[in-house]
Amino acid sequence: MTTRLPVVVSTGPWEDPGWERPLLEAGFAVRIGPSADLHPDHRIADADLVAMLADADAWLVSGREDATRETLAACPRLRIVVKATIGVERIDIHAATDFGILVVNSPALENFVGVAEATVMLALALTKRLGAKARVLRSGAWRDHTGLGSLLAGSTVGIVGLGRIGGNVARRLEPFGVRLLAADPYIDPSRAEDHGAELVDLPTLLAHSDIVTLHVPLTEETRHLIGWEELEQMRPAAWLINTSRGPVVSEAALVDALERDRIAGAAIDVFEAEPLADDSALRRIDPDRLILTPHSVGANLAMRVTGTRMAVAAIVEASAGRVPDNVLNPEVIPVWTARFGGEPADR
Ligand code: NAD
Repeated sequence: MTTRLPVVVSTGPWEDPGWERPLLEAGFAVRIGPSADLHPDHRIADADLVAMLADADAWLVSGREDATRETLAACPRLRIVVKATIGVERIDIHAATDFGILVVNSPALENFVGVAEATVMLALALTKRLGAKARVLRSGAWRDHTGLGSLLAGSTVGIVGLGRIGGNVARRLEPFGVRLLAADPYIDPSRAEDHGAELVDLPTLLAHSDIVTLHVPLTEETRHLIGWEELEQMRPAAWLINTSRGPVVSEAALVDALERDRIAGAAIDVFEAEPLADDSALRRIDPDRLILTPHSVGANLAMRVTGTRMAVAAIVEASAGRVPDNVLNPEVIPVWTARFGGEPADR
């Protein structure tokens, strides 16, 4: 006889009332931590996290918590760590694999298309000097010399990371008549060709692009992928867009490059430490040249709905002993199947 309900722990849910209803209806006990929307800088103490997760079958993480080796080691029942969005750099995937736990993300179309659309918007806003023009008028003035923008047509856009988001940026930019460069050591050259992009190495991309836009995951390899040296390689009139992850760019190097007019400007949605500190040097830079958004430039309601649906579906599958979609550590599947395959979690 069943003696317990399988337990899902959602450590940092969105403020979307009723999101957990499908889990309750599917027979889960759901334990919910402090809202990630209302408390973006709340850090659940490690001991509290372990206490919350001690009997968990599934862990729905937000972008706020770290799923460390120590925490995962303290979760003997855990089958799955799942995120309702894309980036999983806060989950120790190697540790999860060592402990026989699946790591799953939720690459909702609305999520990656949302970021791709926003990237095109940022490219246009930067090159058309939207911020400066709007500010001049609001200040009571009419036109001034800041009113001159540049064309996307005929310019060169360098896409670093030609995955889901980078690929969708390429598809959306091609009709503007730009030359597309892509740097991505992990794709088949035919993928770049299919997207109308020339596959080059990063130094070549940086040296030839009028806009450099970053769409890589945060890994040990991509941490500070754009630092002092790389910013020096960019054209003085070039723009940088980062909607990937904050630590992909060295903020100290970026501030220095902007202060020295080493590049034209930037649009930054993601930061080395989030939320962005009040005294961050980035906040001092002229907003005409630096667009800052709070890790939400591509966010939309549909992405949350779909992302939550995908995450819930993965939890239901894993709890029934079946391997869900979007497993990021497929090498664990044989071990996982031996542990949980066909076994419901409610025992
Ligand atoms: P993806 O996995 O489809 O694409 C990532 C691409 O980066 C892959 O093609 C990969 O080969 C490439 N890559 C990996 N290392 C690289 C390197 N060293 N140099 C160049 N390319 C490299 O992921 P995606 O769905 O396109 O998302 C990309 C990233 O965007 C996510 O990992 C996430 O961090 C970020 N993201 C941000 C937001 C936001 O709100 N700003 C939303 C969604 C995703």
